[in-house]
Parts: sequence; structure tokens; C-alpha cells
Amino acid sequence: MPSLYVHIPFCLRKCFYCSFTVAISKEHHASRYVACILREAQRYQGETLDSIYIGGGTPSMLTEGALRKLFKELPGIFRCAPGLEVTIEANPETIDFAKAELLFSLGVTRVSLGVQTFHEKYLRWMGRTHTAEQSVRAVAALQSALLTNINLDLMYSFPGETMSELESDVKHLAGLGCAHVSLYALSVEPYSRFYVQGIQPLPRDTEAAFYEDVRRRLSRSGYRQYEISNFCRSGKESFHNKNYWLGGDYIGLGVSAHSHRQGRRSWNTAQLNAYMAAIESGANPEEGHEVLTPEQQFREAVAFGLRMNQGVDVQRLEERYRMAAPEALEARVRSFIHEGWLDEKEAGPGRPLWLVTDRGRLVLDTLMPYII
Ligand code: SF4
Repeated sequence: MPSLYVHIPFCLRKCFYCSFTVAISKEHHASRYVACILREAQRYQGETLDSIYIGGGTPSMLTEGALRKLFKELPGIFRCAPGLEVTIEANPETIDFAKAELLFSLGVTRVSLGVQTFHEKYLRWMGRTHTAEQSVRAVAALQSALLTNINLDLMYSFPGETMSELESDVKHLAGLGCAHVSLYALSVEPYSRFYVQGIQPLPRDTEAAFYEDVRRRLSRSGYRQYEISNFCRSGKESFHNKNYWLGGDYIGLGVSAHSHRQGRRSWNTAQLNAYMAAIESGANPEEGHEVLTPEQQFREAVAFGLRMNQGVDVQRLEERYRMAAPEALEARVRSFIHEGWLDEKEAGPGRPLWLVTDRGRLVLDTLMPYII
């Protein structure tokens, strides 16, 4: 069963590190855009979904009317599996008790809140449009509205950041008692303002030391790491994101959204006006696609699977892609095991399980191109 991703591109202002497809000061297009999303969804009429994720952008900026339309009509187009996880991304300044209650009443089961840091100086420096106080109030509003399955995004590796500043962020975050934490090092992406300004994150070894420190502190606060950047309390893993890491199928709706169906990966145009014009004229908003061979799918499943602490059950992939693990890939994995970056255990008798080691976790991004 596929999962569904809906991209809502609107944001109040572009954060200085951001390179996503976002639309600033275009909220007046929101109701037209939601109508386009629903029309695009008709292409998948009757599909059964495993999870829904409304991301962006800042989906929580949508008006009550637009949110109601989206959440009322999507379930009429798709079939929803029982206990469906429905996540929405939100920025703290857009959440008050009324908005939280509305989201709960519309069937949202999980909220991912872009808190990033509790230090005002870094929030301002990154161009975020909220304060630390607003983050705390947003969490309280969600919890009061019984939306307790909350992820908090935490960012680190700001130029000049000290270990004690990061420790205070983790302490503050853990004190809010949320279910899930996504941890990101500042990344200066091409086309972001920070990229143009030549901003540099912390040196790699400092970043690695910070990462290890946060992992330890989150673990002591009751958050179990289950993916390289994700930590949760018992039973609160992100079902939707696990589907990506396990190489599952997904349908993407909206501008720049990507889809993956049994090895066919496609992506929509990244231009808001072109997307809406295509949908309204009955055309396909798809800008391109590629068809992955079983070997490419196998390699990607290994690369993404290694991000997860549960590791990669090689036999499961061999059964799924109906092929033996590619010899060149096995040789590469062996060399990484020799370096101490990967490890091999058993998923069951005679079933190899490939895992990333603590050392390997620090360099996994640089190993990926050699696996894919
Ligand atoms: S709120 Fe998120 S999507 Fe919007 S500009 Fe900031 S980082 Fe980018």
C-alpha cells in the first residue's frame, strides 16, 4: 500500500537556509491550489493508503476553509487503512488552541513542529518567523487539544554555537515531553540565502561531537534512536517516514512532489503557476520520470535501510526484488565492514543483516554514493 505526501508550498518568509520549493506571499492562491491537489488526487481514485503526510512549506498556514476542504475530500478519493497515521507539518507561530482543535477534529493524528532551537539569536539569524516562547505555546496548545503525538525538529551546528547552548536546547526540548525528535545539522544548500552569503556550518569533527552528545542526552531523556536523524518514545516512530526508508511506494501530490510506484519515480513541476495551469487544463503536471532497474532499487533500499537502526535484512530484499544481492554491492559492503563503518549480524539463521556502526553513522552520507 502506498503512502500519500501532499506538498503545500506556502510560507510566511523564506528561512535563510531553505532550498525547498516554497511560495512566499502567495497564500491568496491557497484555495485554488487545494482544489488542484484534490483534482490531481482523482488520478489515484480508490487507492488504499497507509499514511498521509501534509508537508511543505508551511501547511499549517492554510485557512480553516482550505484545511477543511482538504481533509474532508481526500478520504472520499482514497481508501484509508484502519489506524491511518495523518501528519501535518506546522510552524509554531501558526498554532494556537483553536487551530490545534481544528486539526484534531479533521483527523490529524500527528504534528511535526519546526521548532529548530530555543535560542532567540539563532532563530532570528536563520530568518525563522517565530520565537522560542511561541514554540512552547504551540506544544501546549497541541497537547491541550489532545494532539499528543508531536515531533519537534531540532537543528544544530550553527556557526559559533557552543556545546552548552546545544545542551540547553536538548534540555528545553526534552522538558516539553513530546513523542518524537528529528535532529538536523545545519546544511547550507545551493540556492539558499546562506549559500549566497558563504555561511559555513561548524567544522565536521565539532559537528560529529555535537551529534554524539545529543544522541546520548536524548537517550537519557527516554528517546530511542531508530534512524540516523530520528528519535522517539516507545511506539512513536514515524510510520510515514519509515515507508520511505524501507523503499515503499508513495504518491506525491502538488508542486514539486515526487512519487514512487514499483520502481517508477516521477516528479511534478516545481513552478506553482505551471502546476496549477496544468491541473486546471486537465494536463499531467509531471515534469519527468525515471524507471529504476531491480538492481538500482536494491541498492537504494540498502542505502536508505542503513539509515535505520534495525538494519538491512538482505534476504528480504532478495525476495522483494527477485535477485541475489549484486556482487559489486556485497564487495563494497565488505570493505565498509573492514573499515568499521558497517557491521554484519544475523536477521535470523543464515540471514545476513547489515547495520551501520556508531563510527559509520558519522560518515554515512559520504558512503551513500558508493552504495547507490
Ligand atoms: S518554514 Fe520550512 S519550508 Fe518554509 S522557508 Fe522555512 S525551512 Fe523552508
